[in-house]
Amino acid sequence: MVVVLKKDATEEQKKKVIDTITSYGLEYKIMPGIENTVIAMIGDERGKPLKSLETLAGVEEVFLVEKPYKLVSREAHPEYNKNEGTMVIDVCGVKVGGPKPIIIAGPCAVESLEQTLKIAHAIKEAGADMLRGGAYKPRTSPYDFQGLGEEGLKILDEARKQTGLPIVTEVMESSKVDIVAQYADVLQIGARNMQNFNLLEAVGKQSKPVLLKRGGANTVTEWLCAAEYIAMNGNNNIILCERGVKGSSVQGSDRNPPDFGGMYNAKKHTYLPILFDPSHSTGDRDMILPASLSGIAYGANGLIIEIVRAGEEACNVKCDYKQSIEPDKLKQIVRLVNSEKQLLDS
Ligand code: PEP
Ligand code: MN
Repeated sequence: MVVVLKKDATEEQKKKVIDTITSYGLEYKIMPGIENTVIAMIGDERGKPLKSLETLAGVEEVFLVEKPYKLVSREAHPEYNKNEGTMVIDVCGVKVGGPKPIIIAGPCAVESLEQTLKIAHAIKEAGADMLRGGAYKPRTSPYDFQGLGEEGLKILDEARKQTGLPIVTEVMESSKVDIVAQYADVLQIGARNMQNFNLLEAVGKQSKPVLLKRGGANTVTEWLCAAEYIAMNGNNNIILCERGVKGSSVQGSDRNPPDFGGMYNAKKHTYLPILFDPSHSTGDRDMILPASLSGIAYGANGLIIEIVRAGEEACNVKCDYKQSIEPDKLKQIVRLVNSEKQLLDS
């Protein structure tokens, strides 16, 4: 069950609600919202008169959330339900989940200072809102480039200083959360780590926003449960990201077909903003434009796209060249996506 407090509930009224919950032997989690604070009850709720909490001063509503996730569910945040609204997460002034689709762009991996700066300036010029780039890379083959580690984080820091773009970068293990959080503005949890529960708890315990990718073989429910682990640990600044699921329709190109229906449905069940990744979900630079437009049409709040330098050759890129576009193409996508969104909203 969750308790939704009235907008003007006092601290004293909130304390009374909490005391009553704990007197039933239950634990609780508090989720402050812009309008209403929500308190989720945790534990065996059977046989307890929880509905009677509604009679306490300061309580707006008490209701059952039957889903295995509560804090991130849409039901628990009634203030966002009008028109399937989404929580807006402010990343250094960039509003994720607001009326404008946000564009995160950058190399798959940070490979050098020169490469990262060149791309950072070019994507800024193309209209991107944030810079992505992996310093710690989850690679399928152990023989592939594994990332520059902390040196990569320092390069991203320099790129932020020069361009003002906030940084999104992946953290792969709990022991690295502190160091990545020192440099990053958004901590990315990659598809392979979506159910690494220790890591989810660790990013939940720090305050930087988290970009949680959907695992390539995970259901929407599993994805939202993963987000719940982060929220339960105190961090509700969670940005979801659909990046395609296992399957193949075109051999050699269609790596992780985008699950647009899954993303659309996820939006019905959570109030968190959701981005779409056309790079990892197509594996093919020629599909980035149509996939981006489709993602926005299906309700994505923005895109995360991989970029290479103009004229770059495959042999000089260590990671995901085939699915990376050049800055000029990004510029075209930013323009098209913004006009598409205006048409959709009109
Ligand atoms: C990435 O964004 O660099 C990445 C590795 O993506 P995913 O976790 O979706 O495979
Ligand atoms: Mn990549």
